[in-house]
Amino acid sequence: MSPERTEIRALDPETVDKIAAGEVVERPASVVKELVENSLDAGATGITVAVGSGGRDRIRVADDGVGMNEGSVRKAVEQHTTSKLRDVADLERGVSTLGFRGEALYTIGAVSRLAITTKPRGSETGTKLVLAGGEVESVEPAGCPEGTAVEVTDLFYNTPARKKYLKREATEFDHVNTVVTRYALANPGVRFALEHDGREVFSTTGQGDLQATVLSVYGREVARAMVPIEGLAAGPLEGLSGYVSDPETTRSSPAYVSTYVNGRYVRSKPIRSAVVGAYGTQLAPDRYPFAVLDLDVSPGTVDVNVHPRKMEVRFGDGEAIEAQIEKTVRETLLDHGLIRSSAPRG
Ligand code: ADP
Ligand code: MG
Repeated sequence: MSPERTEIRALDPETVDKIAAGEVVERPASVVKELVENSLDAGATGITVAVGSGGRDRIRVADDGVGMNEGSVRKAVEQHTTSKLRDVADLERGVSTLGFRGEALYTIGAVSRLAITTKPRGSETGTKLVLAGGEVESVEPAGCPEGTAVEVTDLFYNTPARKKYLKREATEFDHVNTVVTRYALANPGVRFALEHDGREVFSTTGQGDLQATVLSVYGREVARAMVPIEGLAAGPLEGLSGYVSDPETTRSSPAYVSTYVNGRYVRSKPIRSAVVGAYGTQLAPDRYPFAVLDLDVSPGTVDVNVHPRKMEVRFGDGEAIEAQIEKTVRETLLDHGLIRSSAPRG
């Protein structure tokens, strides 16, 4: 760095906003994640995600949740506005909602054209609010169903450098699909539908049955290859539930090993390795099984540290949990005759 560049200056608010927006909204899939989380927090029983051109042109998330009145929707798009948290005391008591920072709608609005159509449950009229580049363009009464539909078009139209980093439509859509699948599997009691360029990619029944949800999102062949986790090896976890596939039904990407802690998606390499380790040498190298696993962690017994944005998790007792998962999954596979009892990979 040249000496002239060492002077420390405060960034102007617009630059600060764009940097912050870049952290929340990296690509269409991150928009989908935030909007789906808002729908779940709003108590939706049905959520439809429709994207155009991999989400580069258009993203629409519609729900039948609590909806918003005109005053609320105006506030919702401002910075640091949330209905989910009041103060530090709330934060210390623990937040049960997926969101609470009050920044998603604001940041998405700052880098796109955003339209929100919403009507509170039991209300006569709805509201449509339109934003472009963070500026409110219009707020009008609208006829619409109860719930909320958020439509994001022209993502990154005003941040061309970021737009350049978007990948091909198919790649962006893969990421969107992964996100919606993840939430659908975590919420079998919610009806999810995913559409791409007008075609339905999958839809779930919302009847609360995980096996039926697996069938809806992964198809018949994969669902047939999956068996329910049974039993629980000794260890810190209170429970482990879900489904794992036989060692032949695999993919080259680890994206189909979905892990949750108390119903909340987490990304954890050690947990994934524990699942893969359960198959021993009977899994081909660089192949990953299908797995949907929920770790039942009682707050008192295990120290969990979840990174809110990255969805990463760290346990005080990591190795014991990994061993417990590996053993439980291996015993399930053995019980179903899906692997032979040979020495584990190691
Ligand atoms: P956060 O989710 O952290 O509160 P957001 O910017 O995502 O922040 O949303 C701001 C507020 O807008 C939420 O707290 C909620 O009150 C309202 N909101 C957003 N999406 C919806 C929705 N789909 N249904 C009802 N209310 C919503
Ligand atoms: Mg939110």
